[in-house]
Amino acid sequence: MGDKKADTWMPLYVGAYLGATMHLSTEQHGAYLLLLMACWKGNGRVANNDEGLAAITRLPKARWRAHRSTILQFFQVADEYITHERVTTERARAVEISEARSKSGSGGAASKWGKPPQNQRERDAMYAEKRSERLANARRLATHTPAEWQALVELCGRHCLRCGADAYCKDHIVPIYMGGSDGIENLQPLCRQCNSAKGQDTTDLRPNDWREQLAKRLANACGTSGQSQSQLPEDKNNPSGCLLPPGNPPCPHAEIVALYHELLPTNPQIKSWDGTRADNLRARWREDKKRQSLDYWRRLFTHVAASEFLTGRRTDRDGRPFLPGLDWLVKPQNFAKVIEGRYHDRSAA
Ligand SMILES: [Zn+2]
Repeated sequence: MGDKKADTWMPLYVGAYLGATMHLSTEQHGAYLLLLMACWKGNGRVANNDEGLAAITRLPKARWRAHRSTILQFFQVADEYITHERVTTERARAVEISEARSKSGSGGAASKWGKPPQNQRERDAMYAEKRSERLANARRLATHTPAEWQALVELCGRHCLRCGADAYCKDHIVPIYMGGSDGIENLQPLCRQCNSAKGQDTTDLRPNDWREQLAKRLANACGTSGQSQSQLPEDKNNPSGCLLPPGNPPCPHAEIVALYHELLPTNPQIKSWDGTRADNLRARWREDKKRQSLDYWRRLFTHVAASEFLTGRRTDRDGRPFLPGLDWLVKPQNFAKVIEGRYHDRSAA
């Protein structure tokens, strides 16, 4: 069972834990952590009786009773059991991950991978697949347009709302594994570190008046002239009914970078995206109408992922593996060769 495997590790969000437990004494920390681990091993709950809880926390009964109310404030206390919200959701997630691993490991027909992942690349690919499945579910609940995301990023100051870093990616306020949607209502810019560190935190860090600001920005971007609807596929589900301005829609840098990370998980991570690299991407986006949809970039990265050379599975003429980043891919000469399939030959050109 996946459950057994999930028992072997428990995530601890150090910042969140320390933040929430500043008032605990060292003895109380010990008791709380032991209880958390018992909860983790006990399928998310432990029996609610003082003898058992004292034994779990290795405290004499009187000491346990003295700490009881302080420690149980972190738990949901019912007559029979105490449970811990974060443990419950994290456990469900851990079980899901280890089931996905063991399913692929069993080599069953259900596994598209056929055999267990042999290396980090395959594990990453499997994880990327899981993530795009979840994203598809989130999109069934709600979607957003590139223009909306762009406007949201601008009104949030083009930085991570949690730590202020210049880099940002799409953070789902209610994480998609917890049933959050992919609508603009549920998005905010966070850097990758803050995004992956936030766990189940569902704090909306956007300015209070973000809706008004967003509406204003989208209205401005629309202009007032009665232009015919642009050909972009995204326009069709543009919920604001906003017509994009004639000419070129703004290049959705963050979304393209996110697609790159999603589809080429083992190529170099993009930490910052500005200057020449951003100019190059914008230029590739602008110079051809058919590149002005995220669908195009999804297809492009899928095409790149199929090249052994561009994903480091083959070495260059000097015998070194080559792993290009998005910055390399969008340089004019490289881009032309990539789309012509020049790197898909047996011998790397
Ligand atoms: Zn951050």
